[in-house]
Formats: sequence, structure tokens, C-alpha cells
Amino acid sequence: MSLRRRLVGTAKRQLKQTLGPVVQRAMAPARAFLPPETWSLESRGGQGLFLEGVSLSQLAQEYGSPLHVVHLAALHRNADAFQAVPPGAAGGCEVYYSYKTNPVPGVLSALHARGVGAEVISAYELWLALKLGVAPERIVYNGPVKSDASIRESITRGIGLLAANHREELDVFSRHAAELGKRPRVAVRVTTMSGWTSQFGTPIAGGQAMAAYRQALASGNLDVVGLHAHRGELIRTEAELEGFVGAVLDFADELHRELGLDLEVLDLGGSLCTPTVEHIEQRDWRLNLTFQRDLPAPDFAAALSIERYVAKVVAQVEAHYAKKGRKRPRIFLEPGRAMTGNTQLLLGRVHALKDGGERTWAVLDMGINHAECVRNEYHQLFHVERPAAPAHRAYTVVGPICTPADTLYHAVRLPELKVGDTLAIMDAGAYFVPFGTSFSFPQPAIVGVEGGKVRRLRRAETHEDLITFDDLVPAAPARAAS
Ligand SMILES: *Cc1c(COP(=O)(O)O)cnc(C)c1O
Repeated sequence: MSLRRRLVGTAKRQLKQTLGPVVQRAMAPARAFLPPETWSLESRGGQGLFLEGVSLSQLAQEYGSPLHVVHLAALHRNADAFQAVPPGAAGGCEVYYSYKTNPVPGVLSALHARGVGAEVISAYELWLALKLGVAPERIVYNGPVKSDASIRESITRGIGLLAANHREELDVFSRHAAELGKRPRVAVRVTTMSGWTSQFGTPIAGGQAMAAYRQALASGNLDVVGLHAHRGELIRTEAELEGFVGAVLDFADELHRELGLDLEVLDLGGSLCTPTVEHIEQRDWRLNLTFQRDLPAPDFAAALSIERYVAKVVAQVEAHYAKKGRKRPRIFLEPGRAMTGNTQLLLGRVHALKDGGERTWAVLDMGINHAECVRNEYHQLFHVERPAAPAHRAYTVVGPICTPADTLYHAVRLPELKVGDTLAIMDAGAYFVPFGTSFSFPQPAIVGVEGGKVRRLRRAETHEDLITFDDLVPAAPARAAS
């Protein structure tokens, strides 16, 4: 290294060391920590965190680490909140859980037992919903890739709603419907100016969505009952929700005006946030990375709750149809993250503490292989055994995968760590399990806590499991070096 680069490097390091504490103090975020009570966790002096009287530390001991823990009471609470009829409303919403968000049969069955239907986006998920005993009329089938066999199965079984992602798919639906002599209940997925477009849905702007509806009605083989819109872009505020629903309602009016179509179903998709999770802003990342400034915790009380979201949706739709003097359609919702995000946590253990002078790496037995979302979302992290101990020291928390990308937290203040300590990553119930990979390490077990009792929902993957699908060729005997 040249002398100049060395000097610049030293100067930079000194600047960071001097500025670090200043930045940390002067620019400290309003909230850098969410208390355990936010998730109904109880902190018992000297014994750590408990969920319904069950020690989390003990759970990891008994069932192995890492471990997913599902809180069934929280799941029930969310399911009930989504399905409640808001005060003063004529009716509520019909709810279909987005299978891809957390496709754990133990979780899905718990939701179905609570009256929630299935929103599926693949032939596998359709198969799974039927296997779990979901009534066909309680299934909504979305997604850009539907196999011919799965389309035929949904038509034969008479599923609740078959949504065409794009206009071209309507021809396929129509052909199968004609062959089977059955009219499927169809919707077209449309996109508004806010939210995702690209390969998803058919844009309202430019008349493509209108053309798709014209085509659907003209086919003669389809029962065009619904309008589908899933924003994709998260909904965190009332303004975001109102703008999105307003655009969908305007298009529903256009369908009525142009084509005389009275919708039976208005499907508003998912995209409601998990209040305690938030995308990390670039600026906050940089300050965290450079000066170890705490990441700001989300203002969860300001985010739309399930109750407020449902009340707003129903009020807006009912007011719209009352004004137009038309019958209010059935409202379908397809929550994913808002339903299960905050109902699950992920436990892992400190495997090693690597001293790096300026910083200490806490090397865990779990990383982005089980918690991919933590790379770009705020997720509260707790020290399970000593949650309330002073957290002065910033750690760099990394996983077991052999890539620098396996960094869960670049700088997070935690109580003094020891090897063997348990950590809990909160809000692990959305997109953790389905994005999990068996990259060098198998997948963890999943348990459910219900009424103070623990029930295994999924066993951990074994080494054997990882080669289940392989045709093994016995290795040739190694030749001794001569
Ligand atoms: C993924 C998905 C959902 C759920 O999305 P969340 O953001 O998790 O609420 C709902 N509907 C469709 C069509 C989806 O693809």
C-alpha cells in the first residue's frame, strides 16, 4: 500500500472514531428499540424472555437452534381483526391468506380454522390448499404462471376466483372452460399508477385493462365476476390506502359505464405493512455502517393497524357505492405480511465472538439463509436471556454462510454477549421461511406456542433430507498417493 493511501486510511479511521460518538448522540433516532411487550413477550428478572409462560431460552434448548416460534394467539388475533365487521358498516371483508408469505401447513391450517381462505399463486399452492381441506370456493388463484393442469383443476372444482394476470391468459382460461363445459368465476388483475406493474397485472392507464375486460366478456365461456388489484408497494398510511382504493373504484365505475358490468367481487390484494417492520432507508444504512448510529425503529403506532385498514377500506367502498346508488360488491382481501409477520420469531445462538479490534463480530448459527429479509428491513433483535441488561456495545451480527453478504446487523447495540447466548429476531412470520435456503446448513424446525403449550409444526431438516432427491453414485475408493 502506498504511503498516501495509508495516510488517507488512517485519517479516515480517526475521523470516524472522533465523529462516531458525536453522530451517535447528535443524530440519535427517536426510537432505536421496541420493547418485548410489543409482541406479548414477558421479561422475567434473571430468567429472560417468556411467551405465554414458556421460556424462549428453554425452547431453543429443547427443540434445537435455530428455531422458528409461532405465536398462535397472535395469529388468531390478526385473523379475527381482518374478518371483523367494522362498527357502523353493513358488512366486513372476506379474507384469503397469501400462501407464499409463510407456507407452513401448521400456520395455514390455523388460519383456515379461523375462517380465512387461501390465496395461491402456483400449482403447488393450489394443490396444498386442496390438500389442507380448503373448500374450492374459498380459494383465489393468482399469479403470472399457472400450469394448464392447475387451470383445469380450478375450473373443474369451481374455485372462488380465477384471476387473469394478463390479457393473454384469458384466451387460455376460455379454451379450457370451453373444453370442460364449465364457466369459471374470473377476475382480471389490474394495476394503478401507484404500485407494481412490470410482469404483474394489466395497466388501467392506456386502456389495456378495459380491453382485457372487453375480451373476457366477449369470450362467452367466462363468468366475469371480479376486479383484482394487488398494490405490491407497501401500504403504511391512510393516504396510500385511499389513493390506491380510489383508483380501483374509479376503474370499477368505468367498467360499469362502458361495459355495463356490475362487479360481484372487488379484490384489493395484500400489501398492508407489518407495523413493527420497516424498509431501511439508504441514509440510515450509511450512518449505521459508518458511525454505528442505531437504526431507527419503526413508528409502529403511526402505521395503519389491521383494524384501521379494514375500517377504512370498508368505509371508502361503502361510501362510494352509496353515492353511485349501486350495490356494494363483496370485498376480498389477500393479506400476507400483515397477517403473519408479527406472529413468529426466530431464535438462534451465538456460536463465536470474533474480536476485530474496533468491533466484535457475533457469529450466529443463523444468518440470511433463514432471515433474508433482515438485510433490508428493520427487525427488532432481543437478547433472550438478558433482554433488559444495558446495551452499550455495538456488535456486528453475522451468520454461518461463507459470504460477506451474510450480515444480519452491521452495528446493533446489545447486552454483553457470551458464546451460547440466545438471540431472537422478531417479526419472522413473513417471507422468512419461503426465502429460506439450505445453503450449507439445513433448515430449522418450527414450533407453535398455544395456551402455554408447545407443539411442533415442522421438524428440522436433516443432512439426509438434503440428498433425498439425488441418485447417489458410490465414490470410487481414493487412491493412496505413491
Ligand atoms: C404476495 C401477494 C399478496 C400478499 O402480499 P403482502 O405484501 O405480503 O401482503 C397478496 N396478493 C398477491 C397477488 C400476491 O402476489
